[in-house]
Amino acid sequence: MLAARDVTVSFDGGVVLDRVGVEVADGEIVALLGPSGSGKSTLLRVIAGIVVPDAGRVLVDGVDVTGLPTHRRRIGMVFQDEQLFGHRDVARNVAYGLEVAKVPRSERAHRVAELLDLVGLPGFERRAVQDLSGGEAKRVALARALAPEPRAILLDEPLTGLDRDLHDRLAGEVAQILRRTGTPALWVTHDLAEAEAVADRIEHLR
Ligand code: ADP
Ligand code: MG
Repeated sequence: MLAARDVTVSFDGGVVLDRVGVEVADGEIVALLGPSGSGKSTLLRVIAGIVVPDAGRVLVDGVDVTGLPTHRRRIGMVFQDEQLFGHRDVARNVAYGLEVAKVPRSERAHRVAELLDLVGLPGFERRAVQDLSGGEAKRVALARALAPEPRAILLDEPLTGLDRDLHDRLAGEVAQILRRTGTPALWVTHDLAEAEAVADRIEHLR
């Protein structure tokens, strides 16, 4: 359902990805494990359409999306530092992808409330993102990524840097939310224990 095939990317410094492939089946969570600098973020950026590969293809539901801009790929993304929009409240962060997709305002509010329930933050609509705890901000980022009902979610070290207790709790929660929505996910981490805790399958990038 989500596939990257024979992806090659070089920067000035040399070849970062050399004919790399990965596949995620429907409803599956795949961990992409590799040391720092192995090209994990680059591969996610290629799949999301942020980096144009020198060669290779990205397929969503069997359709080649390699030439499509990010917003037309139906792929959601969660980053390590949530990258929430500071000038928008929680509701308008979650609604962002719905605005891009031109979902009518009346439907947006309903969908935002649904998503906030899903991630365990009911009633958080009017909160400023600056006032959220680390765990809350992470869950808002997940809600924002899930809102437009993407065909797959990419998570780039979503839990790296969190303290141990929060890390372990969120790992379980985020994986459970992904499974409940049936959203296939490619979850990048350099942490083997995290990969084993959240994923159905682990792919290694060297
Ligand atoms: P990872 O996420 O596995 O730590 P990255 O994909 O971020 O690895 O980076 C892989 C390599 O590509 C690193 O050596 C990094 O410095 C290099 N790189 C990543 N993005 C760029 C860029 N835009 N320009 C030049 N080099 C880059
Ligand atoms: Mg990275």
